[in-house]
Amino acid sequence: MRNEIDIKVKELLANDLQKGVPVLLKDGFHEIDSLVDGTILKLRNPGGKFIGKGYVGKQNKGIGWLLTKNEAEAIDTDFFLKKITSALKHRDDYFNSDDTTAFRIFNGEGDGIGGLTIDYFDGFYLISWYSQGIFAFKELILEALESAVPSYKGIYEKKRFDTKGQYLEDDDFVKGNRGEFPLLVKENGENFAIYLNDGAMVGVFLDQRDVRKKIRDEYAKGKNVLNTFSYTGAFSVFAAAGGAKKTTSVDLAKRSLSKTTEQFEVNGIDVEKQDIIVMDVFDYFKYAKRKELSFDMVILDPPSFARSKKYTFSSAKDYTKLLKDAIAITEKNGVIVASTNNATFGMKKFKSFVEKAFKESSQKYVIEEEFSLPNDFRTSPLFKEGNYLKVLFIRAI
Ligand code: SAH
Repeated sequence: MRNEIDIKVKELLANDLQKGVPVLLKDGFHEIDSLVDGTILKLRNPGGKFIGKGYVGKQNKGIGWLLTKNEAEAIDTDFFLKKITSALKHRDDYFNSDDTTAFRIFNGEGDGIGGLTIDYFDGFYLISWYSQGIFAFKELILEALESAVPSYKGIYEKKRFDTKGQYLEDDDFVKGNRGEFPLLVKENGENFAIYLNDGAMVGVFLDQRDVRKKIRDEYAKGKNVLNTFSYTGAFSVFAAAGGAKKTTSVDLAKRSLSKTTEQFEVNGIDVEKQDIIVMDVFDYFKYAKRKELSFDMVILDPPSFARSKKYTFSSAKDYTKLLKDAIAITEKNGVIVASTNNATFGMKKFKSFVEKAFKESSQKYVIEEEFSLPNDFRTSPLFKEGNYLKVLFIRAI
């Protein structure tokens, strides 16, 4: 039997949990040092009334997640089975699609278990554990996943918590059959080369699926496209597939050259006609200005925080400046696709960066499209930070 302890939380947290807020914020506890990852907490209000059961899984601001408000419900394989089964049902359309074979089947607190995500890649499942605490339930969750899905090829995992050197082996394979990588998956008819056993990132960020489709279907034709912070060039692939005149992908990671080349190749796109540049984006902006280069579309998808040799970038502080750099090399009537995955600010603030950047550049603009997370990235309305993605298509007029 798993360790279960009774614990009283502060009034404020008790009220939030009562409403269904899923996260167990640190501040709501009198003492957290003694709480051991993986422990089940029977949460009580200051008066001692049962509110819900959660688990200890220390992440950033949270020390764990609410799992159920039903005192009689045990946190066992059956519990996880119910959650995963219901999550799978919400992805029926994706499973039934022939032209998309990579999507998220379980999105943390949006599907009822914070700290856990499961992605599907053409028969393979990739589980991401966001804390030692949720990892403690690995056996139960694996058992639940295996009985929830009709069949599977193989299961891989990513430990997205500090393992403090405990896991020396560099192998994310869990069970089933090992995949042959790259694994080719489809997204709205285009291919992606995926590596499930090659470090933290697998080759594509699934949450930008709808944005990529929009670029391909409605914006790319005949355009000269600059894709900054391009990683494996997923946006460039969709722009090229949509008939872009040319794409230029810029990322400072050396691996981006071979990775982006590969993504073009698996889609039969002539790589010779595209530019793939390994360079600091901020240096590239200077270079482009000096050379008087300009683009019909500029895609900005920076990490929330990045430190390179020369520059530090924080999307909360520096996005306006990034937009101004982009505006300076965007053609009149061109489009800037501005994206951020920073959960610490919302769409309103993001739009204020846009307003400021255009104002300071003495330019007018209209926002033509707005995106947040796609449907498979289910979120909880009571946990705003979980709805982190914000994307704007801004036309410079
Ligand atoms: N837009 C990508 C995902 C971006 S991930 C996609 O659609 O798949 C963030 C990327 O930014 C990483 O590949 C990282 O190498 C790159 N990066 C971070 N700081 C950078 C900088 N200063 N200049 C160029 N690339 C940078």
